[in-house]
Amino acid sequence: MDLFVNCENGHQVKVTAANCGGNVKCICGRDVAVPRLSDLRRNAGQSAFATTTVERLNAMSRRGELPPTDNCCLCMSQATEIVPCIVQCETTVVSGDGFWKTACLIAVGPWLALSWLMTSFSSPVVHGRSTAVRLPFPACGDCSRKLFKSKLARKAGLQNIALYRELLDEYPDAFVVAEK
Ligand SMILES: [Zn+2]
Ligand SMILES: [Zn+2]
Repeated sequence: MDLFVNCENGHQVKVTAANCGGNVKCICGRDVAVPRLSDLRRNAGQSAFATTTVERLNAMSRRGELPPTDNCCLCMSQATEIVPCIVQCETTVVSGDGFWKTACLIAVGPWLALSWLMTSFSSPVVHGRSTAVRLPFPACGDCSRKLFKSKLARKAGLQNIALYRELLDEYPDAFVVAEK
């Protein structure tokens, strides 16, 4: 997203997030104050908090801006249908180190092993959290059937829509579920 501030002489100066809260020099030589990033985003008509790809897509969805293309997400012909899908970006993974403790402690003694096991199983480590985003996939008649049937087709569709593909950059293991 490009961000701009207005110079008093009527020029527009392009700024980056790094300029926020400071000053930039305009082509006319004037120093222009740059507001905070959240204010700049609001001025640019974006949600002040839409910072992640998921949040941005959710905001676009609320504004009715999705899908961003009328082309079928698999064969690129004119889409005739919309297949509503849910992209699961992350899943919660719970792990503990119970196995190795078990293996080592059987040798040490059953009572000690038991008490250590209780603590290791009762304090699992949680990595990540589940993030799902609902996205409409444009498709032609043939391809919409493929989307409903095949997980690989849905992932290919996700890859073929530039805006949606950003999710895969962030969450390479994302998978797509078709909503019936
Ligand atoms: Zn200027
Ligand atoms: Zn198609």
